[in-house]
Amino acid sequence: MASNVYRNGTGSHKGAMRPLAASNSSNVKSSSFKSRIPPSSNHSPGSAPLRRSNSAGGSDGVPGRVRVAVRLRPRNAEESVADADFADCVELQPELKRLKLRKNNWDSETYEFDEVLTEFASQKRVYEVVAKPVVESVLDGYNGTVMAYGQTGTGKTFTLGRLGEEDTSARGIMVRSMEEILANVSPETDSVSVSYLQLYMESIQDLLDPANDNISIVEDPKTGDVSLPGATHVEVRDERDFMELLRTGEAHRIAANTKLNTESSRSHAILMVHVKRSVLGAEDVIPSETDKSSHFAKPPKPLVRKSKLVLVDLAGSERVHKSGSEGHMLEEAKSINLSLSALGKCINALAENSAHVPVRDSKLTRLLRDSFGGTARTSLIVTIGPSPRHRGETTSTILFGQRAMKVENMLRIKEEFDYKSLSRKLEIQLDKLIAENERQQKVFDDEVERINLEALNRVSEVERNFAGALEKERLKCQMEYMESVKKLEEKMIENQQKQGCDGVMQDKCNGEGPGSSIVEDVAEVKKLLEKEIHMRKEAQEEVNKLKSQLGQCPDSGEGGGSEILKLQKALADEVRQKKKLEEEMIILRSQMLQLTFEADQMRRCLGRNGSANAYGGLDSPMSQVRDSLNGHKTPVAALFEQVGLQKILALLESEDANVRIHAVKVVANLAAEEANQERIVEAGGLTSLLVLLRSYEDENIRRVVAGAIANLAMNETNQELIMIQGGINLLSVTASRAEDPQTLRMVAGAIANLCGNDKLQTKLRSEGGIKALLGMARCGQPDVLSQVARGIANFAKCESRASTNGIKSGRSVLIDDGALPWIVQNANNDSSPIRRHIELALCHLAQH
Ligand code: ADP
Ligand code: MG
Repeated sequence: MASNVYRNGTGSHKGAMRPLAASNSSNVKSSSFKSRIPPSSNHSPGSAPLRRSNSAGGSDGVPGRVRVAVRLRPRNAEESVADADFADCVELQPELKRLKLRKNNWDSETYEFDEVLTEFASQKRVYEVVAKPVVESVLDGYNGTVMAYGQTGTGKTFTLGRLGEEDTSARGIMVRSMEEILANVSPETDSVSVSYLQLYMESIQDLLDPANDNISIVEDPKTGDVSLPGATHVEVRDERDFMELLRTGEAHRIAANTKLNTESSRSHAILMVHVKRSVLGAEDVIPSETDKSSHFAKPPKPLVRKSKLVLVDLAGSERVHKSGSEGHMLEEAKSINLSLSALGKCINALAENSAHVPVRDSKLTRLLRDSFGGTARTSLIVTIGPSPRHRGETTSTILFGQRAMKVENMLRIKEEFDYKSLSRKLEIQLDKLIAENERQQKVFDDEVERINLEALNRVSEVERNFAGALEKERLKCQMEYMESVKKLEEKMIENQQKQGCDGVMQDKCNGEGPGSSIVEDVAEVKKLLEKEIHMRKEAQEEVNKLKSQLGQCPDSGEGGGSEILKLQKALADEVRQKKKLEEEMIILRSQMLQLTFEADQMRRCLGRNGSANAYGGLDSPMSQVRDSLNGHKTPVAALFEQVGLQKILALLESEDANVRIHAVKVVANLAAEEANQERIVEAGGLTSLLVLLRSYEDENIRRVVAGAIANLAMNETNQELIMIQGGINLLSVTASRAEDPQTLRMVAGAIANLCGNDKLQTKLRSEGGIKALLGMARCGQPDVLSQVARGIANFAKCESRASTNGIKSGRSVLIDDGALPWIVQNANNDSSPIRRHIELALCHLAQH
């Protein structure tokens, strides 16, 4: 702090305390004290810079100094008479703000003050130069003090406390200050309250409530604020209220003094005006996180400024020196003046910037702790009388004033957050935000619901479309498939009939007819297959589409979850359908395989036109298959490759009876080719076929299975495998139960093949193979009989071979099993294949 600038006096520390000698007057700096005081301290209303501190009792402050004015009382009537021949002890130079104190006729001392007020100074002027800057400060939120110091009868009360009821121009500083304060506060937001106290013999009395005695002073250890919670605080709304209060206070003061048998001049009168004003802090603007264009303006901080104006009409200063002179005991007098002398000591300490200021020494200094010097704006008016008789008092008063001028202060504003009003405002804002939030939430919820609904509609629409398309497709496939099956069955029957009457066929095979029709069929099935592939592709695309739609479906909480479940279900259905379609495709391919196979047969049959009977071979009813090894097996092989053996075998276990039967048919046809037999057996086809034979009641399946086993039984290794896996038993059981000649033909064919294996003779017979074979002759159907005969011939051949090799001796087991009568009986059968097989059997038997 540039303390020098604000120090009292002439700018030099030495001269500050010392009166300016008249001879030294040329040394007096011409600059007025006004210029040395910060602008805030001597300017008109509103001009005081308003320092805002961020918190109550902030560290920012306005440096300043206690301002001191001297006021001379005019001679009173008594003095005019008594001192008529004497000049006044002081001479004022108000324009220079100087006061000359005459020591004698030729010597005087000059003192400089902030204001020098002559005996002609009006009350208004006194107020304006002494109190107004302080009052303005108080209105701005600073604490302020105006004190009157001087000898009794010099005009302290006149200056401070005159009510001016008859003559408004006579109104003193108290009334004028209140007028100014009341004129500047707003009744809605601000409040002004007043306490009026008397300090006498270190006891504080409430002048507004005389019963309220010995009020204690409370100091806030944090802020240093001094308060009198025990004192009466009266809210003041207008001047009338205040005048009433002052009158009451004055009356109580007189009464109290009468009671105490003292004079008002022995006590200090203290008027405390508490001003509470609401102000708004700076607005904080916080950029919104989401919206950069809009700003969320925090409401300005509501602040409350609390300030205090203390007007002190001090006890007469003469008491310090003249104690006891009025009849009081010395100690009592000391007590009376304790506060005043303590004030003097404090002012001295403050003036000298002493580290220790004895504020705690008296009630007055404790009371003025936050209002004199320090952080408050302070004005002191020292009153003097003109009488040379009181020169001593006058001198001491002047010196008191001079010392006070050196007291520096640092104004601090007292600002507090108005938490109540802030909380009210925030609550209102919060309510608004809550309402807004609720509105937005509703809009959001509606939107979510709408999207959910839309998504559900879309999903169900897709599901509907898809299910419809799928069903259509399925029906179409089914129908096409049924048709193909029908055609194939017709074709098969036709073929079988042709096999039965090869002579007729030879006549018909002229390059047109059935051959070309099969080619057409193959082409048709190929077309079907292509269509099927195309449909499968479409189905796959649809599935993908659904999957991607599922992925696009907005996540909509629980609704979304159920949608996803639905879609997953649809997807699972889809996968099932796809599997079914695939199965159907395999079946179609199998059918095509079969057709191709039949076409091959037909082609070969036509090729052999006029030559040997295609089905007349002695070895097997499936001997044609062997021929095909040398023929056009490419389409069959190609299809076989396309579908894959494993898939076909897997279909043997399909739940769908249709699928099973077709799979068996395909396996049977494949098994007709030697090249495939090994692979079928390796892939477990033989085992699957035997299982089927065991577990299925369906005659159709058994028939085809038996056919397939018959085909596989052409190979020696397979024959052994069939035996090991209990095939002969199964075939025997099937033989005994079957009614259908076709089934019997296949079973007989299979056993006949087994009969041709030398190693299996014993087992075959012991497990009832021969009996089963002979038993099938009951059917009488030539194809069956032919196979029975072939079996007997094969068996007889092996027996005779064994006999020739010396492995076997004794009678033929065929004879033991009663085959001979049947052989003899059928030796002249109409069917040449039967006849031929029987002839062969008889031949071997004879050899044996
Ligand atoms: P104090 O309070 O200092 O003891 P008072 O204010 O009671 O002195 O004044 C004593 C007397 O002098 C009163 O009658 C008062 O009217 C008168 N008086 C004081 N100052 C002036 C003044 N400036 N002009 C006229 N009369 C004054
Ligand atoms: Mg007085």
